[in-house]
Amino acid sequence: MKSKWLNRLVEYGSYGDTPIVFIAPHEGGDLIELDVDETKEIVEISERGTGHLVKLAAKQIGATFIINQVSRIQADFARNPDLLGKGETFKYFLKEKRREFKCHTDIKYLKLLKRFHNLIEKRNPSFIIDFHRMSSEEIDIRLGFGVNRKYIGGTKNAFDFRKKIFDKSDFNDLNVMISKKVLAGESEFILNKHHKGRHVALVEFSSQRGFDLEKGYISERYETFVKKLAEVSTEF
Ligand SMILES: [Zn+2]
Repeated sequence: MKSKWLNRLVEYGSYGDTPIVFIAPHEGGDLIELDVDETKEIVEISERGTGHLVKLAAKQIGATFIINQVSRIQADFARNPDLLGKGETFKYFLKEKRREFKCHTDIKYLKLLKRFHNLIEKRNPSFIIDFHRMSSEEIDIRLGFGVNRKYIGGTKNAFDFRKKIFDKSDFNDLNVMISKKVLAGESEFILNKHHKGRHVALVEFSSQRGFDLEKGYISERYETFVKKLAEVSTEF
């Protein structure tokens, strides 16, 4: 399998014909310096490692992956292209204070964003799974299926999905939560736009708990989980 690229910024490829697409919309970007309480803070705005995880998942079942390398400051690929350059902000907590900076700012990425969405549609997947990182000391992985878990056909299916993953391996040390609605996809443009009766899911990995110094971020148990998640996604 050889990767293809859109403008050397969006990497994609298929390991086979399985109609499932794994997306890492926030792999791109870097560290930025922010003024915080009269000092400078370095903040990591990329979700480094999610690109590696979507490739692992796609490879496991012969599916497709898409990885975006554009920083969310220029263009946030999980946001509506129509809002590009319209004053969007990225909000987060640092030192227990709510902070924000401007993001999704550069209109010159509009064409690339549209091609990115066309790429997803062209594949016509039955299931779209979107990987992100999050900040959590307590939860390893959060699965989101939209309000009332509607994107996987309701609460019963959502819990079946998790159970099937746990049946495949010993993940007893992993705390995997199924979100009721918060950050579960309703504010996630990719999932809303491409849902259309398909299954879609948001999978968020804890930056703190998934950290492995050798690998830069991802611990081996997260890699194993992702492979099993991919296998289960073919059953839905
Ligand atoms: Zn993200």
